[in-house]
Amino acid sequence: MDLNALGWTPFFAEAFASHRQTGCEAARVAAEHRGGYRVYSARGELAAELSGRFRYKAALPGDFPAVGDWVAVETRPEQSKAVIQAVLPRRTKFSRSAAGNRAEEQIVAANIDDVFLVTSLNRDLNPRRLERYLTLAWESGADPVIVLTKADLCEDVAAEVRRVESVSGGVPAYVVSAVTGEGLAELAGCLRPGRTAVLLGSSGVGKSTLINFWCGEERLKVQAIREDDDRGRHTTSHRQLVLLPAGGLLLDTPGMRELQLWEGASGLHETFADVELFAARCHFADCQHDTEPDCAVRGAVALGELDAARLESHRKLVAEMRYLERKQDPLVQAAERRRIKSIAKNMRARYRIKESATSSKAGS
Ligand code: GDP
Ligand code: ZN
Repeated sequence: MDLNALGWTPFFAEAFASHRQTGCEAARVAAEHRGGYRVYSARGELAAELSGRFRYKAALPGDFPAVGDWVAVETRPEQSKAVIQAVLPRRTKFSRSAAGNRAEEQIVAANIDDVFLVTSLNRDLNPRRLERYLTLAWESGADPVIVLTKADLCEDVAAEVRRVESVSGGVPAYVVSAVTGEGLAELAGCLRPGRTAVLLGSSGVGKSTLINFWCGEERLKVQAIREDDDRGRHTTSHRQLVLLPAGGLLLDTPGMRELQLWEGASGLHETFADVELFAARCHFADCQHDTEPDCAVRGAVALGELDAARLESHRKLVAEMRYLERKQDPLVQAAERRRIKSIAKNMRARYRIKESATSSKAGS
């Protein structure tokens, strides 16, 4: 395998120089499962594991290799095996962490070059959600590209594009349709040899359709990577970093799908901080602000302290998130439950900080 085709650049070559002296080779993490890794290297695809020294030295979750990482490995080619000695510095990263808490940072995907933010033109296009995705992309260090799908189902594409452009800050936007083929060739032009892309967007907007289009004959493999490996099947096709036939790489991990929901949740919290501040005073911790007694949110609406329309759009977003959760497969669902729990914990911690800040302000 050609390292340049796998995304190797002078940035990584420089970081790798000291490892080369110790006899290591460079490899890129293509998949991670149950503590083991698959890596791509100049010798082809290898199974890899962490060296004992690495395990001993790694302190934080973010120290461990993630899909997309470049690593220094010692190879035992006769066994198609590699031992990971070090992770090279990341050029970009998508991580999951409790509000900038480095100790809890988990790397979901590393060294992404292009993020395709996918949203469909037929559903109510949500500029606020797009802003959240754009923020997430900028934070990762990767370059965002906006993809507006299902043009065939939209009456006034130009009007929707104008709405997108009002929040996109000059990020390029592509209008596509998998039905008519409109825009697909132009969009494929964004995938360049040696560059790594991910797709972000709500469920049902057409991400898999695009992936299948890009993968051509690789299609079945892409479907296989969406299955979980826990039963030990699909071990050879369980790659989450896929080389596209036309050049370029596509990263598609279940973690990325979870990240979308997670970011949705934290965005929800930030966008509706006012609603949630009232919600913290509801009698029931799981109050739906519907018919429950002693609901502080409905109380605030009644007193004119909170706009009823805002409560309604909050309700809609919460419902959408629940729907997306249910749509996940059972294994992801289990992870999802654990994650939601930790979000709830994190949110409660943040309320406490906010409330104490407010009360100390009021007190001074
Ligand atoms: P994902 O959940 O984002 O991966 O979305 P999918 O790729 O699974 O697409 C969801 C549904 O939208 C499927 O039924 C697709 O056939 C359909 N779809 C995808 N792209 C288009 C499009 O450009 N036009 C129309 N009319 N339907 C599309
Ligand atoms: Zn309530």
